[in-house]
Amino acid sequence: MKQNNKIVLVTGAGHGIGRAIALKAAKEGYSIVANYRKDREGVEELIKEITGSGGGAWPLQFDVTDRQDCKTKLEEWTEKAGAFWGIVCNAGICSDNAFPAMTEIDWDSVIHTNLDGFYNIIHPLVMPMCRKKQGRIITIASVSGIIGNRGQVNYSASKAGIIGATKALALELASRSIAVNCVAPGVIETDMISRAPLDIILPSIPMRRIGKPEEVAALVVFLLSESASYITRQVISVNGGLI
Ligand code: NDP
Repeated sequence: MKQNNKIVLVTGAGHGIGRAIALKAAKEGYSIVANYRKDREGVEELIKEITGSGGGAWPLQFDVTDRQDCKTKLEEWTEKAGAFWGIVCNAGICSDNAFPAMTEIDWDSVIHTNLDGFYNIIHPLVMPMCRKKQGRIITIASVSGIIGNRGQVNYSASKAGIIGATKALALELASRSIAVNCVAPGVIETDMISRAPLDIILPSIPMRRIGKPEEVAALVVFLLSESASYITRQVISVNGGLI
């Protein structure tokens, strides 16, 4: 494994897209702080895999909806290890329902996790990054936040909110050489889509297949790199031509 002395926080790193991002970033030499909420086992395996290949990785448990816990643990981390080079806001949930049947819990849980998570994670970390005048922030939105998706009014709202927040933050941080971008996946093979009607979805994807977490990770890790230094305020899709 390469080593580059840069530390990257990946939220929701135990499985799915977050795990693929953490693994690929570690292969490229980044040390990983791997957040999980419940999936301790997944993160322990991830850390074993990274450290077993000579990389650096540490677990960090918090729920992205718990503002105070995020602040305490992330500030503790930066006091100990300095500013992160990169933040990947990947943790997210969906709770789909046709709008008339959408419950308050469907709405609140998705907004609190996906959108409040943006504030809860990035806010405690941004000033140390500004002082260093370097870094990358990458948020994970969705095709659903760009075009809207039936049965996902809550999810589309949260992801559209992330897109707006990402673009606004990019403007604020550009003069500090911190690049802030959003990656918008289409349909990716993870637990999140385990109940999605793929027979209905596949014909609408020009590539006629769903994506792999590694295909999202490849873009995220490029955006983390020095080579991506002039890319900011962008929303980049990984979706097989879906939109
Ligand atoms: P998964 O359901 O496989 O993983 C979701 C991850 O988010 C888990 O690691 C989970 O951690 C974490 N998470 C959820 N809630 C919280 C929370 N409150 N605090 C901390 N972590 C939390 O989904 P994906 O890997 O597919 O999703 C990753 C991101 O990609 C999400 O933002 C999702 O919206 C987005 N996305 C996914 C698409 C897809 O087709 N799969 C398409 C477009 C976007 P734990 O298990 O520890 O709770």
